[in-house]
Amino acid sequence: MTSTQPRVSTDVLRTRAELRAALAAVPRPLGLVPTMGWLHAGHRSLMQRARADNATTIATIFVNPRQFNEAADFQRYPRNEARDLAICTDEGIDLVFAPGVDEVYPPGFDTTVSVGAVARPLEGAARPGHFDGVATVVAILFDLIGADHAYFGQKDAQQVMVIRQMARDLAIPTEVIACPTVRERDGLALSSRNVHLTADERAAAPVLRRALLAGRAGWEAGERSGDALRAAMTRVLADEPLATPAYVSAADGRTLAELDRVVDGEPALLSLAVRFGSTRLIDNEPLG
Ligand code: AMP
Repeated sequence: MTSTQPRVSTDVLRTRAELRAALAAVPRPLGLVPTMGWLHAGHRSLMQRARADNATTIATIFVNPRQFNEAADFQRYPRNEARDLAICTDEGIDLVFAPGVDEVYPPGFDTTVSVGAVARPLEGAARPGHFDGVATVVAILFDLIGADHAYFGQKDAQQVMVIRQMARDLAIPTEVIACPTVRERDGLALSSRNVHLTADERAAAPVLRRALLAGRAGWEAGERSGDALRAAMTRVLADEPLATPAYVSAADGRTLAELDRVVDGEPALLSLAVRFGSTRLIDNEPLG
């Protein structure tokens, strides 16, 4: 005898009204995984953690125009909603909020959430307006969804810090949880942007990880000078002709100010942004 399995699928919500109705009576706690789609194993790991911690899970899929400082980068950001929804279903996500731009930013929308010091260096300096866009959309999503927990990747370490600051300052009670970076076997951090790398650039891209590990090895061997750690990472990147570094940082893990010296017992963050042709990749390694 055969039995027909009911087809289990994730509910897709397009509007604020549908979202509100769907969330009205869900079992709590509620876990949120915000994404821009083109889902990969990094996003899956956030979903798995959200499922483990919560009675109900919701993912958002929204390519947020406000966080792209280059229009061309927004235009060519990869999209495949059908595939993304299949992944959400596969991961057992209960609800997906996949709104259009006007649903997130209704006509006349004219507010920006702008986080201070922690949003200024590194990605903030390299991509003007980027974190305003991130903080604004995440504030809206946190407010609309009212999750108990929200899951973000450590791969975007500064983003986690910016969102934590925003949620604290705006008294949003959603707890921000950072999850470990998922990598390819050769060390390259998974990223939706990896799809844009040519074969040669893809072969070169693990140099980010090698540079960060060179920095970590220096620190483990007792090096505490910020300049020396930055130089160790820069040397590794310099050996890869396809890699053009945008920044090489050894910063305070709480403020992201560049360090003269790493202080034992205090958190530090090694981080990099590197261009390969037209594709810009970031990665980081926490110390301490
Ligand atoms: P994105 O769709 O790129 O905006 O990413 C959505 C979330 O997934 C963010 O919190 C990212 O930090 C996280 N994420 C992206 N790549 C990875 C990865 N390789 N490992 C873990 N989390 C990731």
